[in-house]
Amino acid sequence: MMMLEPITFSGLRGTLSRQMSLAKFTSWRTGGKGDTVYLPADRDDLAAFMRQLPADEPLTALGLGSNTLVRDGGVRGAVVVLHDPGAALAIADGLIYVDAGVACPKLARFAALHACAEAEFLAGVPGTVGGALAMNAGCYGGETWRYVVRVEVVDRDGRFVVRTPSDYAIAYRSVKRHGGAPIDGIFTAAWFRFPAGDAVAARARIKELLARRIATQPLGMPNAGSVFRNPDGDYAAHLIESCGLKGYTIGGARVSEKHANFIVNPSGEASAADIEALIVHVRHTVRARTGVDLEPEVRIIGEKLASDSISAGAQAI
Ligand SMILES: Cc1cc2nc3c(=O)[nH]c(=O)nc-3n(C[C@H](O)[C@H](O)[C@H](O)COP(=O)(O)OP(=O)(O)OC[C@H]3O[C@@H](n4cnc5c(N)ncnc54)[C@H](O)[C@@H]3O)c2cc1C
Repeated sequence: MMMLEPITFSGLRGTLSRQMSLAKFTSWRTGGKGDTVYLPADRDDLAAFMRQLPADEPLTALGLGSNTLVRDGGVRGAVVVLHDPGAALAIADGLIYVDAGVACPKLARFAALHACAEAEFLAGVPGTVGGALAMNAGCYGGETWRYVVRVEVVDRDGRFVVRTPSDYAIAYRSVKRHGGAPIDGIFTAAWFRFPAGDAVAARARIKELLARRIATQPLGMPNAGSVFRNPDGDYAAHLIESCGLKGYTIGGARVSEKHANFIVNPSGEASAADIEALIVHVRHTVRARTGVDLEPEVRIIGEKLASDSISAGAQAI
């Protein structure tokens, strides 16, 4: 096989790796390698990386990988990992500025500290603000974009663009450009406005919501949250449980006994192919028994290994 010359970059301040396993960048803790994996030092450094990336090079953004399955054959092109625990958070006149690499629980705590209400739901979303913007993450009645005033995006040419919610078609766990095109570029920051509230009440609500999660979700095992979107008028977990699929296992992947819409990797040894095969099995079983076609909420990226095509996962999702 002919090996392509890796792209060379200059003047970057972040961490560039070649053929790096992406397993540690996903909450399922499995998956293949990224050809070029870049952890930018900050937004300007990310822009410098984007400017040097050839226009035809595939580009994938990852935050905390808490909604992503990376197939075992890995991801071609460049993968930018935007999770920075030291990234900026600031408040002025009730408007919160946050870098996209900040984790959502940190934003929730910051908002509570500054007596903002209704950000508490973000405390239990274990992803980045960038991931929450891309997914319109939500729970317990809250949804990310309801509170967004504007966002900053870096485009493929490394230019920063400021956009407002009216620039996007925003729906349940879905954010697209008008007309249906996927979001172009990478979110680098957002400005949120939450209603004024009470700091003590907000902290108490965060505690209460986290306790609810601990009681109902298999947080001690690698997982990616809800695998399927809830269909209109029902819950995916309810449909999966009604088909007797709790505990169903393929390879190292198992439908959680605690929450049927979670797939767990209890030993840490599930391959992405095991997880994908289980997603396919659950979807087909629920469709056959209830007539409801569950749509995956998790994003599946990368290539299958050639050997996957003869495994149990050979059916298409
Ligand atoms: C235990 C658990 C509980 C969860 N509970 C919830 C919940 O209650 N509600 C909910 O909505 N989700 C939930 N999730 C799913 C997940 O945390 C959210 O979807 C989260 O918003 C994903 O953020 P991330 O940074 O991990 O994104 P990733 O998984 O890294 O990426 C998800 C998608 O966003 C894109 N993306 C990431 N960063 C950027 C960026 N900066 N710019 C452009 N695109 C980007 C990626 O390309 C990918 O398409 C849960 C997950 C787990 C593991």
